[in-house]
Amino acid sequence: MKDCDTRKSSVLLIYTGGTIGMVRNAETGALENFDFGHLLEQVPELKRFDCKISTYTFQPPIDSSDMGLEHWARLVHIIDENYALYDGFVVLHGTDTMAYTASALSFMLENLGKPVILTGSQLPIDMLRTDGKENLISAIEIAATRRSDGSPMVPEVCIYFKEKLLRGNRTTKISAEQFNAFRSFNYPELAKAGIHIRYNEAAIRRPDPSRPMKAHYLVDPNVVVLSLFPGIQQRLVHAVLNIPGLKAVVLRTFGAGNAPQAPWFRDELQDATSRGILLVNITQCQDGAVHMGLYETSLPLIDAGVVCGYDSTPECAIAKLMFLLGHQLPPEELRRMMDSDLAGEITKS
Ligand code: ASP
Repeated sequence: MKDCDTRKSSVLLIYTGGTIGMVRNAETGALENFDFGHLLEQVPELKRFDCKISTYTFQPPIDSSDMGLEHWARLVHIIDENYALYDGFVVLHGTDTMAYTASALSFMLENLGKPVILTGSQLPIDMLRTDGKENLISAIEIAATRRSDGSPMVPEVCIYFKEKLLRGNRTTKISAEQFNAFRSFNYPELAKAGIHIRYNEAAIRRPDPSRPMKAHYLVDPNVVVLSLFPGIQQRLVHAVLNIPGLKAVVLRTFGAGNAPQAPWFRDELQDATSRGILLVNITQCQDGAVHMGLYETSLPLIDAGVVCGYDSTPECAIAKLMFLLGHQLPPEELRRMMDSDLAGEITKS
């Protein structure tokens, strides 16, 4: 791990909304979005950066609970349009759905060769104890940092939060309370910020230099998450798997990818598969992976044609399915892509 130089870099700061830029409404007491100018006023330190910082703001800024697929496409469009003009991008985003957006961008910006660093805060930036300043300043520094050969240090979609740089599609929000709000359970940190920012270069993904970055815009929302629990009833499973227009299901199973052995359960899954619905098996455990076939309780899932989701986060499994479904791939190709590591999102063991 080593730290590097940010001189003469240029960074585009994209403000989508979220707590970092919010102020409290004096009448209702609720936090509401405020304009970007206000946010920048709160961080005069930005003027001291030895790199060019330009800004773009969503009008109006949104709470990340309102993020939709059209906002993902908008972010892709902004980054794609400005790709040649900047060395890196920082996306200020509400923390609640940041892991979903980071996952989606990791697929929609194929073969990314520049840093796209998402950050935000748990406390608004004008509050005395805000975590927003450090998150913002370090995220910009990371986006501007190049290696000694001039190439970007972290050409990935990442989340920077509370001194940690994490691969975006490996990250989950773990706390609604602590400054340390994000964690990557199944992949190492890409950098740690203390007095210096120490990069874990061996863990950082590099693009294929022979190909350009390719922006994708098509995503399909016809996905559902079905989380298993003891005593789950057939009528519930049946109703979910028969939602009109449904194309894919993220099955959140037990432990290493296990599910009830009741014949009705396997039959419902088999029926869904035969209707062309793609079923993906991820575990409810945050740490560790699905190993289909390890226990006999996962054999019915194999029989029913369920695809292994390995150690994917739920956020990433959903975003990856939406991305792949948007491409209207033939069924076998869709299964093959879902089973492949496209952007460092899974560890196939
Ligand atoms: N509700 C906010 C959001 O996700 C929370 C935050 O920014 O931390 O937009």
